[in-house]
Amino acid sequence: MKSMAKILNGVEIAAAIKAEVAEEVRSLAAGGITPGLAVVLVGHVHASEIYVRSKVKTSGELGIRSEMLTPPESVTTEELLALIADLNARDEVDGILIQLPLPKHVDTRRLLEAVSPEKDVDGFHPINAGRLLGGRPALTPCTPAGIMEILRRSGLPVMGQHAVVLGRSDIVGKPMAMMLLNASATVTVCHSKTVDIGHYTREADILVAAIGKPGFVTAEMVKPGATLIDVGINRVTDAAEVARFFPGDAERAAQFAKRGSTLVGDIHPEAFALAGAYTPVPGGVGALTIAMLMHNTVKAARTRRGVREAAAVGEA
Ligand code: NAP
Repeated sequence: MKSMAKILNGVEIAAAIKAEVAEEVRSLAAGGITPGLAVVLVGHVHASEIYVRSKVKTSGELGIRSEMLTPPESVTTEELLALIADLNARDEVDGILIQLPLPKHVDTRRLLEAVSPEKDVDGFHPINAGRLLGGRPALTPCTPAGIMEILRRSGLPVMGQHAVVLGRSDIVGKPMAMMLLNASATVTVCHSKTVDIGHYTREADILVAAIGKPGFVTAEMVKPGATLIDVGINRVTDAAEVARFFPGDAERAAQFAKRGSTLVGDIHPEAFALAGAYTPVPGGVGALTIAMLMHNTVKAARTRRGVREAAAVGEA
């Protein structure tokens, strides 16, 4: 099927946001302020190391000072609490990010709650979650905040639209639903206990899929012309599965042959053909997350140091 759907290019939107952040960093520098980000990376989780490296690298490119703290796998909750307390107290640190997941023996919730809400650039602290709930200015989770930017910058309407969110995690689904509600969408949240998910997804003007199940949303589950936002990042390593998701796609087949894997979202690629607009995987939502982290770091610096806002990035 030939698709008329508009591809929402996350890489381009992320680049625009990063350029704006860099501009803001320059204007803060003129006032003698260099925003600072501290990233805490415990142990050696390969994927976490890659994410952190990329966060540190992007910070450098935008003029944000970053530092990495790398306690060993054996670190205790108490030791990490002391480390966070030190980062909370240091004036040159504007943002604190604890890379998840933490080792099993560490009390993740206690640590996330120990981060000063003013420096909580991931937006995971209950104070920030509460502010988002109340529609008040807050540091908000990067992935759903990035999705709001995709919608806004692509001129896609939210007000009065029926938005259906698949997934209710604290990191993506719940804050996503709240941001869409604050932007006056009518919001439905589905999860693993929802009976007949297709009943809801077929009614969605905006469908956000964040469940971590490759190709879960099929063509018969979407309303033609809908905006499809695919948050899922699923690595597929089985050749038959790749052929099932991307029949006749020579580019994917070549990529799979070369790397032995490819990424597929939570929305089946066949559903994209029916969409009015959609975010591809890769190159969609994933590209926004780090850009929004950089945005949050500068926002935290500005707020905490009492500098007025100049950014074009919309608030939730
Ligand atoms: P999570 O914490 O594992 O939450 C998954 C959610 O999906 C849960 O609420 C779960 O429901 C629901 N769910 C699972 N299976 C389902 C099913 N068969 N039908 C309906 N709902 C189902 O995951 P997450 O952290 O939110 O991440 C979701 C996906 O987004 C993953 O693929 C992840 O890799 C990706 N992600 C991408 C980015 C990015 O930058 N693009 C950022 C974060 C996450 P229950 O609550 O009932 O268990």
